Amino acid sequence: MSNPENQEKIEINSSPLLKVINELHLKYKSLTEGTLANYIPELAKVNPDLFSICIVTVDGQIYEVGDSQQLFTIQSISKVFAYGLALEDHGRDYVLTRVGVEPTGEAFNAIILDEQSKRPYNPMVNAGAIATTSLIKGAGATERLNRLLDMFRRYIGHDVFVDISVFTSERSTGHRNRAMAHLMLNFGMINQNIEEALDLYFQQCAVMMNCRDLAVMAATLANRGANPITGEQAVDKRYIKDILSVMYTCGMYNFAGEWAYKIGIPAKSGVCGGIMAVVPHQMGIAVFSPPLDSRGNSVRGVKVCEELSQRLGLHLFDCSGSQI
Ligand code: GLN
Repeated sequence: MSNPENQEKIEINSSPLLKVINELHLKYKSLTEGTLANYIPELAKVNPDLFSICIVTVDGQIYEVGDSQQLFTIQSISKVFAYGLALEDHGRDYVLTRVGVEPTGEAFNAIILDEQSKRPYNPMVNAGAIATTSLIKGAGATERLNRLLDMFRRYIGHDVFVDISVFTSERSTGHRNRAMAHLMLNFGMINQNIEEALDLYFQQCAVMMNCRDLAVMAATLANRGANPITGEQAVDKRYIKDILSVMYTCGMYNFAGEWAYKIGIPAKSGVCGGIMAVVPHQMGIAVFSPPLDSRGNSVRGVKVCEELSQRLGLHLFDCSGSQI
């Protein structure tokens, strides 16, 4: 006990948060349901057993368990952050003319636009995300990509890279997304060269991170847009409420209503098997486990978040308090 290193270990290991995530990791490790996102050929090669949980608090404490250093492509989770950048580039009113904020109740890749306005329904589904990404400013494709990558750097505190194999894999098979982009071009919802907009969208989906990075990004959103580790402001705090509102109502696609009802915190999933959840003013949560349910959400990820929310009393409208 006299060795300060030991003392630190004992303190950290006895943290109630660490204890809970260790228990959940052990409990849900044996849950092997779900399938990999094989419509993107490179994602079908991922090891389905990978599993990690990480929590980062707004005061910068990190609690993690499992394969938290394993890199994966963030897929749809990128939509949250691209939306923030589009809001900063154009302001709320203009972005609203291009992308709505209404849940679809449909799959993430549904080919639908709002009947009257011809806008995609919201920025968390593919159509809306492609429209959002087409709004990112920059003189040419490279500058736009660099602005996106720099934005991710602010959120996580270090440089990020695009996984070229996953990008190429999706670019050469993403015909459904290409069809949506053409439809939106037809209705004047995208002005830019659509191949360039799609490339940028596929690139943002192929940005690589680990579970800890994802939790830091969530914690940054929880911390009014300031990275709790570096202190850097990643996004204008005026837009936090826009971002968290659409995450809450649309982030889990056609599971968003049930998620809001049961788990009760803004979240976003991706077909990589990642789920990122934000407890405003408290913490960011990330779970990574690749096998997905029929809606494209990580099977273990949903279970872990559900139990975490119950045990820590995280539901935004829960008045009964934490059970740990
Ligand atoms: N890149 C994927 C796609 O466009 C992202 C989908 C997702 O993660 N739900 O289909």
